[in-house]
Amino acid sequence: MTTPIHRLRKTRIIATLGPSSNSAEMIEALFNAGADTFRLNMSHGDHADKRALVKAIRKVEKRVGRPIGIIVDLQGPKIRIGDFKGGKILLKEGAGFRLDMNKKQGNTKRVCLPHPEVFEILKPGHQVLLDDGKVRLEVVENSKTTVDCKVLVGGALSNRKGVNIPDAVLPLAALTAKDRTDLDFALEQKVDWIALSFVQRPEDVAEARKIIRNRAGVLAKIEKPAALTRLTEIVEISDAVMVARGDLGVEAPLEEVPTLQRRIIAVAREAGKPVVVATQMLESMITSPVPTRAEVSDVATAVYEGTDAIMLSAESAAGKYPVEAVEMMDRVARKIESDPNFHISSIDDRARPDATTADAISAGARQVAGTLKAGAIVTFTTSGATAVRASRERPVAPILVLTPSLKTARRLSLVWGLHTVKTRDVAGFEEMIAKSRRMALRHGLAKAGERIVITAGVPFGTPGATNVLHIAWVTGDELDDENDD
Ligand code: PEP
Repeated sequence: MTTPIHRLRKTRIIATLGPSSNSAEMIEALFNAGADTFRLNMSHGDHADKRALVKAIRKVEKRVGRPIGIIVDLQGPKIRIGDFKGGKILLKEGAGFRLDMNKKQGNTKRVCLPHPEVFEILKPGHQVLLDDGKVRLEVVENSKTTVDCKVLVGGALSNRKGVNIPDAVLPLAALTAKDRTDLDFALEQKVDWIALSFVQRPEDVAEARKIIRNRAGVLAKIEKPAALTRLTEIVEISDAVMVARGDLGVEAPLEEVPTLQRRIIAVAREAGKPVVVATQMLESMITSPVPTRAEVSDVATAVYEGTDAIMLSAESAAGKYPVEAVEMMDRVARKIESDPNFHISSIDDRARPDATTADAISAGARQVAGTLKAGAIVTFTTSGATAVRASRERPVAPILVLTPSLKTARRLSLVWGLHTVKTRDVAGFEEMIAKSRRMALRHGLAKAGERIVITAGVPFGTPGATNVLHIAWVTGDELDDENDD
């Protein structure tokens, strides 16, 4: 198949699926508009819905002939209050309000907080945020089973609203019983990434890794101040991270979110771990076919900052204009990437190569491709690790990744600048060159008369052995081999 122009976009687009987009037709339309990876949110729906979505995505993948990534986002240890008599109450600023373990329905004086662990850590002065921070309480007094608070910011409160406690590391397991069931399901469905919600410590990621055993990539959502205090360790132990601005903007002051976004992107890029910027990127497109200028500027900022991927949540899951939202992200990202200052700023920010063969070759490939104005860098990889290092270099030339592993091809679909093709492995040097030329032409990444820069590992088929950098001309005389899929 021909490669649509938006596929040469370097920043990847993730679209969350939901009621507005849960058919094979919509998934294909979103892919054609530019979505590279789809996210399934386990906070909503059941396994039957998700199984149908995985099936539909794989069907679309077959039809379009391109690897597509799937992220399953686990709900994580989200804390919620209980129910109220009559369904809701109004809390007044300055009033007293008690959280307790009494299962009886709540009223304007008290409500159940069915999480005994939380009572152990709440102390006077801690803030308790309810319903995404719309209502704010401050702890005045605590016992083993009750917490008496003063209402700092009042408002309406209804059944089972979420609770955020930003001032403390909560003694909660990283994976709830529901998460474990959802995780087993996701692994059985062979999805590509597992996103972990409310990560607080590197140990939370380690616990999930032990179960996942590299059957999927592990993506840590950074949304709690506790995670920010151990960010480098969390990035180190994860395969990717997300700037989960929804909860981050509740737990941290809103005005800190842009600085935290920059910091998380910088730490992830230095470590060479893919990073996703998420939530409210084109929020107004839930109901409007056109975003605000501020939203377009927000998407542009994330792209300028060098994020690997930008994500749509409710815009594509529950909004009226899912396809238009993906098209808008695609247009903004391509426009920013075509700005000459885009690459100048990413050169300024470029992480220094580690003292490894893979990094030396990746840095060399970027430099050689830049000097020769090569059409593409072609990277042979089995595990995908070399491709991620090549992406970390943020070269001007697109990176064509050739891998025999469909699992690797799918997993790389959220990494900056990679155009991944699953293809049979090569057995020798001449075959490596011939295939690189043919694939670069077939996928529209290089034209006749351009050079390509090839990186590979010899002996071929040995993971982790990248040690070759070769320059080849694309002549246009290469015969495409229909059998070379
Ligand atoms: C977020 O909080 O920004 C996020 C992506 O998580 P969720 O959509 O699960 O709230």
